[in-house]
Amino acid sequence: MLARRLPTVLPPLEPAEALEVARIHSAAGHPPRGGLTRRRPFRAPHHTASVPALVGGGSRRPHPGEVTLAHRGVLFLDELGEWQPRALDALRQPLEERAVLISRQPRSLTFPADLLLVACSNPCPCGLPPAGCRCSDVQRARYRRRLSAPLLDRFDLRLLVTAPEPGDESGPPSAAVAERVAEAVARQRSRYRAAGWERNARVPAGALDRLVPLHPPVDRAWRDLVERRRLTGRGAATIRRVARTLADLDGSPEVAEAHLARAADLRQEVP
Ligand SMILES: [Zn+2]
Repeated sequence: MLARRLPTVLPPLEPAEALEVARIHSAAGHPPRGGLTRRRPFRAPHHTASVPALVGGGSRRPHPGEVTLAHRGVLFLDELGEWQPRALDALRQPLEERAVLISRQPRSLTFPADLLLVACSNPCPCGLPPAGCRCSDVQRARYRRRLSAPLLDRFDLRLLVTAPEPGDESGPPSAAVAERVAEAVARQRSRYRAAGWERNARVPAGALDRLVPLHPPVDRAWRDLVERRRLTGRGAATIRRVARTLADLDGSPEVAEAHLARAADLRQEVP
């Protein structure tokens, strides 16, 4: 449910992006009904989807896959532990390059695939709370092996989500969140105007010291965290970018230690 709400809090497609998305969906045989939409695409393929259905391809006329249909929007993979390892491996290249290269003699094709990937998984095949679960250790281990370390490392945020309790307060409405997101995006655009990256997520690790500088105590806290949690280079850079995003959502010109701590909390280890 949270994943499906995501397009309602993301900034609307820019006019050029809306055209691009409409062109892709028309080429795939789904022209937009009722004119151009500025709502970002949301795609949720089933875990039985084939590799060509997911990343594109096909033997005769190459067609765009789910990663391209989700271009500029959200790709949601439910039950990540049920997906074939082949399909998950095939996602790596498009996620890395934000495009899919399909080689066909005599020429190759490139489809765009700049998307926000969201996935969820139960801790075991049955998905019941621990008290009701009868899965064997072997079943649980096999299920978790699908979620390989290199794959999990590619998710900026990793959270354990529990069922809501009756007394839980409901969160802010989507419209209010969307407003904060739009302001945070505008702050990022103006910060990177000269560099041309637009978003914190795009700042290369090597440029973080220059573009996302940290005050000495925050920098020390970041280095401690990297050492204590034995973060990969990717993980260390991600936490710093996420901390910058949290500061942008707060309207804060500086990254504070609290932003860093929150970014670390949002990137939990998967047991
Ligand atoms: Zn179970």
